[in-house]
Amino acid sequence: MRLDVVTLAPEALQPLLTLGVIGRAFQNGIATLHTHNPRDFASDRYHKVDDEPYGGGAGMVLKPEPVFAAVEAIPQLPRRRVLLMSPQGQPLRQADLQRWAGGYDQLVLLCGHYEGFDERIRSLAHEEVSIGDFVLTGGELPAAVVINGVVRLLPGTVGTAASLEEESHSALLLEHPHYTRPAEFRGMAVPEVLRSGDHGAIARWRQEQQRQRTRQRRPDLYARWQSAQQASQQQS
Ligand code: SAM
Repeated sequence: MRLDVVTLAPEALQPLLTLGVIGRAFQNGIATLHTHNPRDFASDRYHKVDDEPYGGGAGMVLKPEPVFAAVEAIPQLPRRRVLLMSPQGQPLRQADLQRWAGGYDQLVLLCGHYEGFDERIRSLAHEEVSIGDFVLTGGELPAAVVINGVVRLLPGTVGTAASLEEESHSALLLEHPHYTRPAEFRGMAVPEVLRSGDHGAIARWRQEQQRQRTRQRRPDLYARWQSAQQASQQQS
């Protein structure tokens, strides 16, 4: 997959290329990362990318011309999606990462700065993405979150497909607890069933733990899971 990030701070994305599993995916050519700085596309001699808001108010606004020019200079693959990072966007979900990883071969991520974007920049994007109900200074961390989440779903990044399927959010329920050796640590014992060797009992215990955890920690997700279960039962 080709990833293009339009950013005033390209250096903020560099750790993605070297760190851990995602760094290895880039080194192995599973994904490629290209950054584009609107400052390089500003036509005035000071390379100005921001200006005061019409109507007054605090902060500076990212100008449309250099951002449009930066996006228009990016080579275009047939299946491309343009995402604008914004606290006003739709909250990011695992299903979005799955949709982008499976449905596109190019993602263009637009990072804002200052007070935000000139409103016309929004017309460049297919979707606006928020990583949560809080405000950061720029779109680079949100873009890095999207890139990490998408690249780890690409074939070859993570060891086995099963480990991706079983984890939290892949099917609405949170994941069951994990334990490793020792069997007892500071008075806390590993549940007997996990040491029983009975694979059926282990699977049932894990499913029950998933349901309990989700109901306790995320009643909103649990309600969505219940509705999905009911809908699939009605269909069959
Ligand atoms: N004034 C803007 C508003 O209230 O919507 C916030 C601008 S913020 C200081 C600057 C940039 O950081 C945004 O344009 C966006 O690209 C990025 N950003 C900040 N918080 C974000 C979030 N929760 N999710 C995605 N992007 C975010």
